[in-house]
Parts: sequence; structure tokens; C-alpha cells
Amino acid sequence: MSLTLHGIPASPGIVVGPVHLLRWEVPEVPVREIDEEEVPRELQRVKDASATAVERLRRVRERAERHAGPAEAAIFDVQISVIDDADLRSRVESVVKQGFAAERAFDVVMLQWREHFARSPHAMMRERVGDLLDVHIRVLSILLGLPDHDPVDVPKGANAILVTHDLTPSLTVQIDREAVAGIATDAGTRTSHVAILARSLGLPAVVGLLNATERLATGDRAILDGTTGSLVARPSDAELAAAAHRAEREQRESTRLEGIAREEAVTADGVRIVLRANVDLPDEAKAAATSGAAGVGLMRTEFLVVGRTTMPDEEEQLAAYKNVIAAFEGHPVIIRTFDVGGDKLPVGGYPHEANPFLGWRAIRMCLDQPELFKVQLRALLRAAVHGDVRIMLPLIVTLDEVRQARALLQESARELTARGVPHREDVPLGIMIETPAAVMTADALAADVAFFSIGTNDLVQYTLAVDRGNAGLAARFTPLHPAVLRLIQRTLEVGASHGIEVSVCGEMASEPLMAFALIGLGIRNLSVAPRSVARVKQIVRGIHTSVAAEAAASALGAGTAAAAEQVLRARLDAEVGTSPLGN
Ligand code: PEP
Ligand code: MG
Repeated sequence: MSLTLHGIPASPGIVVGPVHLLRWEVPEVPVREIDEEEVPRELQRVKDASATAVERLRRVRERAERHAGPAEAAIFDVQISVIDDADLRSRVESVVKQGFAAERAFDVVMLQWREHFARSPHAMMRERVGDLLDVHIRVLSILLGLPDHDPVDVPKGANAILVTHDLTPSLTVQIDREAVAGIATDAGTRTSHVAILARSLGLPAVVGLLNATERLATGDRAILDGTTGSLVARPSDAELAAAAHRAEREQRESTRLEGIAREEAVTADGVRIVLRANVDLPDEAKAAATSGAAGVGLMRTEFLVVGRTTMPDEEEQLAAYKNVIAAFEGHPVIIRTFDVGGDKLPVGGYPHEANPFLGWRAIRMCLDQPELFKVQLRALLRAAVHGDVRIMLPLIVTLDEVRQARALLQESARELTARGVPHREDVPLGIMIETPAAVMTADALAADVAFFSIGTNDLVQYTLAVDRGNAGLAARFTPLHPAVLRLIQRTLEVGASHGIEVSVCGEMASEPLMAFALIGLGIRNLSVAPRSVARVKQIVRGIHTSVAAEAAASALGAGTAAAAEQVLRARLDAEVGTSPLGN
């Protein structure tokens, strides 16, 4: 019998392949006491497991170096040195000699070490806690013979569907793209970092499955449908045939959309819509540039940091930004300063917070560490020599934040002048509108900035008090809630009265029905995932702005998100027909 699980479609595409279950969590350790004569054997088991772990880490390290460079590969050197640490070894040995089995001894010592490091007054030691956790999981699962605990054990060409609870940054760097063809997670939502990253990597993904890791086993054949959000384990022949049919249809549809990608983004009544792309990884810029986008509306620079232990230096950042500018030659490239924090975290080195999305995130972290922030600002000012670069600040809540950032930008320019390094001084500085506070004070902010870009992923979360990453609340995350629509409308009014551009770069813009609503509200600039450019362009070309405006007015007065959706869908269907948009 097949088993169908429903989750949240996070990245489109259909994959049929074997499940690779990954439990990246500290396994339960059975209590097993040993006799004195068993001690040498248990000590040998510790040695063997450590050697196996080191060997696997060397393989991961090699791959990380090839794909992500030496800085990211260095994470694994740290982990190897933890395993080889003489003090750690002697402590484990001493617990074994007290009469405990190897796994118990290793578990006890690692728990003590993690606790000790986490409480250390030295930041350097606290930063190692994430590495200790990874070592704890890896060695313990080898000692316990748990094959489900190894992300590197997927053979190349396996076309595997990686099923895991959540894809943490340290796991993301370990994924072998030649082995893994799709991702399924218990946690996550459309706007969580795993979904954003999967879309960037072009890997089909379903998130928010809640308990897929409980219900599937490694080796199960499965169909992952990232377009509809389903995961079918042990499918029947009929289900396989249906999946193959859908995949074929998707392929035909994407070939048709390729044609539309090259057309102009102009509505049926001749209104031009500026359609740009969201770029998350610099490596993906070239592919994004072929999507039909007129520039980059949001480059998420924090993905230069997520999954590694060190911040990229000025030269490395400059190279990454130049890469994107070159791919989009002649078009504007809006680069957002680091939005680290929330669910986008570097490996290790970040304080544990009870409410990360209300915590030390984005502009807050940058302003508190001006030396670190200025490295990025200098790289951006230098990059601006090579194209139409615009700088965007995330998570703005107060005017002071904008002013402090601008002062640091000016200081960075002076430093470059003193160094005699070519740069541009007059780079436009804009902000993201992602908090109700920014909307309600938009008139004050507008005087100080060159543009607004509405980040609906966060604006929805902070307006509706719904954690954007909580799969259990996904149905309550409703961008069409009248409060959100009114905040967008208000931002537009302020932007228009100050003569500054207002765009939308949150996921809302990537969904055809919502793009229709946004255009109806008056938005003329959208920035969407590269894979959504053609689909959104198709909507743009099929609609009249007058019809969209009427539909948006009705949606604003509809009272609830569900009613707003109904009104919009009816109007959009009447404009462009239902199929094959899948909107
Ligand atoms: C947003 O919040 O809508 C946004 C575009 O930023 P991010 O998803 O990176 O937080
Ligand atoms: Mg945001």
C-alpha cells in the first residue's frame, strides 16, 4: 500500500527516487554497563568509530572545498580536531574504565563538553558548540550503528529524496548535489530558509510534512512533488504513471514559459511592470539572468554567510557582487545588506535566542558590529563601480537605523578614498518595509531613502503574529489578510507622494494570484524567484490594470483573507482563464 503525505510545496518539480532518511539529532543511548574484561574492546570501539567519523568528515571536507571553497571546508577541520583531541579521548577512556560502554561514555563526555563550551565567557568557545553537536551526533550514530544518521552516505547518481526533520545550515553544506535530487522536511514553510534555498538550488522540495521522518524509511521508493506539495511513499504503478505524466506536462509547460520569458512585462492595457529576480546564491546569478528578469530586485547576501563559520572578507564579497552584476549587465542590481539571524544562521557562532525572529537580526546585528558591517559596505561601494548597484537595508524599524547605516556608508567611502581604492559614493540607499512600524512611519523614512521594497514574508509574520517558519501555523500565514493589503496600500501611497519606487520582493510577488492583487493595489515593481519570472510575466501580459484595481479594491473590503482570495481568483480566472496557470 502506498502512503501519501501532504506538506507545503516549497520548490517545484517532480522526483521519483529512493528515500534517504537523515536523523540529524543526538540518538537515544541505551544504558549498558560493562565488566572489566570488556574494557579493551570498548576502548577499541571508540577508536574505530572516531577513525570512521574522521574519514567521513574528510570526504565531506573535500566536497565542501570543491563546491564552496576553503573557508566553508574549514568547518570540518574544526570537527576533525575535536575528534582527535587528546583530552576528549582520555576523558572518554576514563568513563569506559569506570564500567560504561563506549557509546555511553562518549555521550556523557560530549554532553559535559557542550555544556561547558556553551557557558564559556569566551565567544570563541561558545562558537564551537555547533561543531561539538555535529561531532556528538556523528560519532554516536557510528557507535550505535544507525545508518539513518549520515548525510554523506548517499551514493552519487542515487537521485535520492533527502527526508529530514529540518535542513540546518551545517547539513546544507553537506548535501551532495550529484546524489540528492529532492528534499522533504517535517519542519519549514514556503518562506523559511530551507524553502528559499531549495528554490535557489533548483531542487524540488516539500516542507512542513510534520512527521515524514517517522513514517518513511531509507530505501523506500517515493514520488516527491514539489509543485503540489505531496510525498508518496511506496507508490503503486498507477501513481508512478500519473507522476510521469505530470512531470511530462510540467516539462512542456516550462518549455512554453521559456518563450514567454523573453517577452516584455507589459499588461494587456499597455502598463509596464518592472519584473526583477531574487538572487540568493551568487552562483545562481547566471541562470537567474536567463529567466527574463530585468535586473535583481533582491540579492540575499546572508547566504554568503549561512552554513559557514567565518564572514567573507571584502575581496570575497566584492567578487560575489561583481558576479551578479556581470550576469545582469545593464540592469539594476539591488543588494541587501546581511540579514543574518532569524532562521538564517552561520554555523556555530551565533547566540541562542528564545525568539530569533524578534531578536538580534539583520540591521540590528550589523549596526552593533560596525567593523563587520563596514567590510560589506566597502565591498558594495566598490562593486558599484561595475554597474547600477543599489543598497538595501533589511528589517528597518526606526529612522535612527537608517541614519546610522548611512553614516557608516559614508565612513566606508572615506576609508576607501584614504586607501585609494576606486568606488562610487552616490550609491542609492533604500530600505525594506517588513515591519508595521516601518509602514506606519514610512512618511518619515521616505525623506531619507531612495526606495522602498516590501518584504511580505516578514511583513505578514510581524503583522499577523504568525511565525513564518512554523509549519503548524502555515494555514494562518495569509498574505491576503486585509491588514497586510492595507499596509501595502499605505506604503504605496507614501512612496507615490515622495516620488520613490515601491517594489515587492517577498514570496507573495512570486505567486500569480497575489501578483495580480499587488498590481491591482498599484505595485509596478515586482521581484520574484527566478523560476517564477515567466509565470508572473504571463499573468502580467494577460491582465488589464483596471480589472486588477477593481479586484484589489474588492479584496481590500472583503474582510477576510479567504474572501479576498475568492474575489481575486474569480476576477483573475475571468481575465486569463484557469488552466494551465495553476495560480
Ligand atoms: C521578506 O521578508 O519578504 C524578504 C524578502 O526577506 P527574507 O525572506 O529574506 O526575510
Ligand atoms: Mg525579510
